[in-house]
Amino acid sequence: MFAFGMASHQGLVRRENQDAWGKFPKDSVDGDEPQKHLFVVADGLGGHQGGKIASALAVNTLGEFFHQPSDLTPREFWRRAFAAANQRIFTESLQDFRLHGMGTTCSALLMKSNHISFAHVGDSRIYRLRERHLQQLTIDHTLQQDRPPSATGESHRRITIITRALGTQAEVEIDCEPELDLAEGDIFLLCSDGLYSEVTDAAIEQVLLNHPPAEACHKLIDLANANGGRDNITVGVIKIVSLDEKMTVTKQATPPAALATTANPQRRWWQRFWINS
Ligand code: CA
Repeated sequence: MFAFGMASHQGLVRRENQDAWGKFPKDSVDGDEPQKHLFVVADGLGGHQGGKIASALAVNTLGEFFHQPSDLTPREFWRRAFAAANQRIFTESLQDFRLHGMGTTCSALLMKSNHISFAHVGDSRIYRLRERHLQQLTIDHTLQQDRPPSATGESHRRITIITRALGTQAEVEIDCEPELDLAEGDIFLLCSDGLYSEVTDAAIEQVLLNHPPAEACHKLIDLANANGGRDNITVGVIKIVSLDEKMTVTKQATPPAALATTANPQRRWWQRFWINS
């Protein structure tokens, strides 16, 4: 049995929310609980419309793939689902010059009976809190670069470059964990960089330990905004209440928060600026 919450907020600076998230199946009917569940967080990259469209396409494509009957192994499920999302975004980007170069990060977690697997591309993250310790399970596909102060007066800054994304090339290489051991009390967190760029691991730990999943999502978003809210913030929290063959939801999820959106159109898609130092 598990409980979960998911929420997204555009933050305090960006003019729209280019993040997207999804939980599939969307609704659970009492007495007919599905035995598998998919959670997805995607963070769109691209000026104007592009990023928002790319992240939504990723979430929707993974959701559609999830609902197709299949007996694929987790590794094969992830490979095919991400390939389908990548292909769809890439194709769309070629058909409209305004969407050219759009892409998205994507981190997704699948719970099937009492087994968990996950896959990701980009710098959205999946963490696990176990025995009061928060551990990042994914490795960011990024490079850090320092930019010295410029003649135009821009201060020194650190730039994060996304090295892998969905939809920016015809093919994509994903990272995948096909089988993760699961313990009672484990809490999984999926999030976009708008959370971890603003909130420390210690603060995240405290929220996850002290609040049920749906409430934790809103607390985490509040914290990110209190610390600046410089980016869109998306979080999903899943708590394993007990282990059983038929993983069921303990209560209904948080209603979908309004998906807002957009970034500075001047920003190039692969660049993420953060704190001046
Ligand atoms: Ca972001």
